[in-house]
Amino acid sequence: MKLFPIFADLTDRLVLVVGGGAVAERKTLALLEASANVVVGAPALTPALAALVTEGRVRHLPGTFNADWLQDVWLVVAATDDRTVNAAVSQAAEARRIFSNVVDDPELSSFQVPSIVDRSPVIVAISSSGVAPVLARRIRERIESLFDHTLGQLAGLAAVYRKRIRASLPDLGARRRFYDWLLDGPVAGFLRQQQPAQAEAALADALAAPIAPAEGSVVLVGAGPGDPGLLTLKALRALNEADVILYDRLVSDEVLSLARRDAERVPVGKLPGENHHATQARIHGLLVEYAQAGRRVVRLKGGDAFIFGRGGEELEFLRAHGVRYEVVPGITAALACAAYAGIPLTHREHAQSVRLITAHCREDEDNLDWPALAREKQTLAFYMGVGQLDLLTQRLLRHGRSPDTPFALIENGSRPEQRVVSGRLAELPELARDHAVRSPALLIVGEVAGLAPQLHWFGQHLGQQALTA
Ligand code: SAH
Repeated sequence: MKLFPIFADLTDRLVLVVGGGAVAERKTLALLEASANVVVGAPALTPALAALVTEGRVRHLPGTFNADWLQDVWLVVAATDDRTVNAAVSQAAEARRIFSNVVDDPELSSFQVPSIVDRSPVIVAISSSGVAPVLARRIRERIESLFDHTLGQLAGLAAVYRKRIRASLPDLGARRRFYDWLLDGPVAGFLRQQQPAQAEAALADALAAPIAPAEGSVVLVGAGPGDPGLLTLKALRALNEADVILYDRLVSDEVLSLARRDAERVPVGKLPGENHHATQARIHGLLVEYAQAGRRVVRLKGGDAFIFGRGGEELEFLRAHGVRYEVVPGITAALACAAYAGIPLTHREHAQSVRLITAHCREDEDNLDWPALAREKQTLAFYMGVGQLDLLTQRLLRHGRSPDTPFALIENGSRPEQRVVSGRLAELPELARDHAVRSPALLIVGEVAGLAPQLHWFGQHLGQQALTA
């Protein structure tokens, strides 16, 4: 081990920063965060540093470095762009046994500043001993994405209750289990939900009756349209922490593969011969059953759970059964398909509104306001429309939408096999048949769809001749 990691308490300790430029400014701010007593030595200062001096938060030593500046100093940071000055600082510090860091120059430094993930009081520091700063930065990004910002609050709460936890749980094993419960259970959940008072109450209750039964919970997670890069950090964290994942058919394998290796994966898509009602009842049953058995359940749905995803019904059922839940939004198909097909859903010239529509046009289910939908200068995004393209087109035309209105049909949006078929409304059913478009596909109708042939950037684009003609 080339470097020995330490966490230094700099509170009210004198630290010298040599240099008055942007780097010195950044270092000064970081040192102030750690409550250090900072002196900046430099001929000139950035406006922000000068302001700190005026406010009395930093002292300024004007001029070029001289070794007297090191008087009473615990640490020194050299942040000038002149290597001779930096070397002089480093040598003078060495002679006085003061640790020095020369920014971006490990050779001249006797200590280095790690990359950090700050969830104070928890701090993760990463170092590549100066040999691979890019790698250290990558690792930092990874860790940054793994832990929610409420981790610090949780650690703070645990610190406040530490003595009481020790007193009510003298047995080490029981105490460990309690801390696991603290990290995984309702206390952490309430903090994520921005309900700190409930978090503390849950902690206090559990201490009053220490054999807290394992309490399960459900996170309703939107998995996005397929590209795993479109998952949110929260979705990723939920997948990392899940014991059980109940997923729909629309969830891509790439997304599923990001889940904890030993998580149980349960496909809950519609079974052959089953109707929607039965599927939904089966899912409701499973959710409650797993949660009541103390498991952390992720209910993973394509796109967003609240857009044509029955997320609302599932939450109502969970609420009725007293199961704790959280919701993580996902990127819904309309947003993703539009983005991946180069179609801005709104546009100053072409569309001032956008509607998300489920395309069940069977007479008995059709409550849509077709005259309103047929108006120009608006964007329509139809979900679940592949089987209804003829009907849809007829209705729009019959209610007065121009046969020349552009459309784009996006199949497997955001996935490697994405295809986009575009053209004019009048020829929509025919083009869809020619290209054998299959579900899942999203239909965008409106002036903005005419931009797809120019703005597309991902996967295959078909049928643009029809448009440019
Ligand atoms: N909750 C989902 C929608 C479920 S309804 C969401 O927010 O996206 C299912 C319909 O969504 C499909 O019939 C299709 O119209 C659309 N859809 C979902 N994923 C899609 C994808 N990757 N590409 C194109 N359409 C998609």
